[in-house]
Amino acid sequence: MIFGEFYSITIDGGVFVNERIPEETVEEIRRKTDIVDIISDFVQLKKQGRNYFGLCPFHGENSPSFSVSPDKQIFHCFGCGAGGNVYTFLMDHDGVTFQEAVLQLGSRTGISVNVEPDKNNRSEQQEDISYKNHLEAHDLLAKFYHHLLLNTSEGQEALEYMYSRGFNEEQLKTFKVGWALPSWDFTAQFLKNKGFDLPSMEQAGLVIKRDDGSYFDRFRGRVMFPIENDRGQVVAFSGRIIQPTSDEPKYLNSPETPLFQKNKLLFNYHRARGSIRREQSVVLYEGFADVISSNEYVGHGIATMGTSISDQHIQMIKRLTNQVILCYDGDQAGVEASYRASKEITAKGLAVKVAVLPGKLDPDDYIQKHGGKAFRQEVIDSSVSLMAFKMRYHRFGKNLQTEDGRINYISAALKEIAFLSGAVEKELYLKQLSDEFDISLESLQAQLNDIAPRFTKTNSDLRKPAVQTAAIPQRRSMLMPAYQTAERRLLAHMMVNEDTAYTVQALLNGAILNKDEHQAILTYLLAFYESGHQADPGAFVQILPDRHLRAFATEVSMMEINPEVGKEELNDYVLEVLKYQKMLKIKEKESEEKEAERRKDYRRAAEIGMEIIKLRKALKR
Ligand SMILES: [Zn+2]
Repeated sequence: MIFGEFYSITIDGGVFVNERIPEETVEEIRRKTDIVDIISDFVQLKKQGRNYFGLCPFHGENSPSFSVSPDKQIFHCFGCGAGGNVYTFLMDHDGVTFQEAVLQLGSRTGISVNVEPDKNNRSEQQEDISYKNHLEAHDLLAKFYHHLLLNTSEGQEALEYMYSRGFNEEQLKTFKVGWALPSWDFTAQFLKNKGFDLPSMEQAGLVIKRDDGSYFDRFRGRVMFPIENDRGQVVAFSGRIIQPTSDEPKYLNSPETPLFQKNKLLFNYHRARGSIRREQSVVLYEGFADVISSNEYVGHGIATMGTSISDQHIQMIKRLTNQVILCYDGDQAGVEASYRASKEITAKGLAVKVAVLPGKLDPDDYIQKHGGKAFRQEVIDSSVSLMAFKMRYHRFGKNLQTEDGRINYISAALKEIAFLSGAVEKELYLKQLSDEFDISLESLQAQLNDIAPRFTKTNSDLRKPAVQTAAIPQRRSMLMPAYQTAERRLLAHMMVNEDTAYTVQALLNGAILNKDEHQAILTYLLAFYESGHQADPGAFVQILPDRHLRAFATEVSMMEINPEVGKEELNDYVLEVLKYQKMLKIKEKESEEKEAERRKDYRRAAEIGMEIIKLRKALKR
């Protein structure tokens, strides 16, 4: 593999996150690289017209919907929405970081990359040497513990215990599970003999200092689970006791250290990347042991390390997929935690499903009882929509036999329904409530309108979670309303020509595009030009913050457009955009008019009627 070379640079390079590569270098390398060349290493591409097509490496498919544009130096899949420039491709395909992708292409193009320490992190640079020590110590210990568990008589009892808990040899090997001897200073002595400095090892969380200045082992007589960072380096351990005692915790984790920060680490992230891409979803557990026990059938599982999900975690997930399947414990605490996590995750634009465990089982219990295959089919693949989960959630702790309980439940459910964007989905759940509690649909609908009239009125798709699968381009544009096609055409023209961008800005005269994503791209694009960049779709997608927007931008950029566009054509598109806004306004007025009539305020209704006529006239102009 082409990665051999640069891995040797980065693996012992320590903390890469604090270093940056100058933007000019990033751009120079990108310009000297042909995206078609790079992608051809992984995908068979055939030229059709100006672009190349092939089978998408990010989702399973039989007919090619993956396209690469040599002119724009971008790729886009019309099937799953993957898209970006050459760096994005390598990051998504091989799960490497941005810096790693740049280094790799740098060595390919013969451009040397100067990695500057980030100015904000100058002090951390001096600590790099000790971090490097910490990494080496963790790596060495993980290997040693693993050897002790699998191959020695000292590890025999622990090994049998692990087998009795349902783990098999393959799982133990994949996750490099090990055994720390029940000794006070075995690890301390081992590290010392290998030349490690014990005060530094204390900082790494491996040993603890006594009052008399001597050091003892943090982990004693525990099954050791190495915790790896997003690059597969061991940065911490979790140790599980095999004979439960009253005064020791079942699991003992490394403390937070410079290398191990719980809010930035997801267990198994490194290993699961490929599966997450293929499955187009990620399974999120509460405990890392669930990841290991389910791994044989659920390769796309990750877990937080005893902490609730953080913004950084969500960012890490977002780099790979937009679909999260929550699989928390089946007890009340687990259900509460799922509800909280779903809020955090959907707030960041990701879609959530919930895998519901029967009874109060946790994933590991379920697998022990029914096996991994049943877990995959009955739990993960049968995960329910977030709405279905919320309806169940609101039943928790409510006595539906009493009137109070029923009212509380119905109003909580209606609040959730009010936030749904699809009319069909809304009706489905209203019908469900109506049937269950024998209340007429009309009165539920009336109550729904009271709760959140502004959410129930608009049919905008702003609230919809990011969509993973898209229809093929032709079909999509046929189904697309005229204003959306117009907005996309405008953006496509703006992306290839800076002057056009400013012309459109002037024509819009402060009006915003109707679709959120389109407006976001427009804003980023103008900022891109204003900071001195020239038109270049491949460079532009680089600055977009998430894959959802990138997918939009690359898809728009792949549209066939007339390069000689005139101001008149642009103006037509802008008029289409404005027309839609006027139509929305008319609809709004119409319902105000009805409302006034219902109140028997005929004077007001007539006034609104006049306004509507005026608006209609303006529309025809
Ligand atoms: Zn695809």
